[in-house]
Amino acid sequence: MTHDAASARLAEAMLTPLVIEHATDHACTRGTHSRIADGRVVCWSPPRGDDEVYAVDAEIAAQPLPPHLEVRWRGLWDGHDSFWAAWCASEVCAKLWDVPIVVMAARSPVDSSPVTLAGHTVTYAVRHEGDLVVAFGVLSG
Ligand SMILES: [Zn+2]
Repeated sequence: MTHDAASARLAEAMLTPLVIEHATDHACTRGTHSRIADGRVVCWSPPRGDDEVYAVDAEIAAQPLPPHLEVRWRGLWDGHDSFWAAWCASEVCAKLWDVPIVVMAARSPVDSSPVTLAGHTVTYAVRHEGDLVVAFGVLSG
């Protein structure tokens, strides 16, 4: 999939509304999920083709930055909001690359979309959804 095709596919997939509810009330196995620190879960289930793999990650925008990451990633983001956008994007890449997030955290945050690791490219986008910062990604090659 070319980057333009992946970006268009991701933009279309992002039109699918998120379900955000308490995790204990959420029982689907269809969507891709992100658990929030306060007990909610974000569920995203865009219609997908056979070869399309999606991931979502969300964090509470106003929560404090993790002190160890604030130090490690100092100077690599531009303000509180930008930190969580970079974190969520890195989480989405970790999920799609099947790499532990601790490995991602030891690196720099991912830079602008698309990003490639070991030949696998992720196209992602980040937006606000209520009180959350949400990153959406598709494995595009
Ligand atoms: Zn779900």
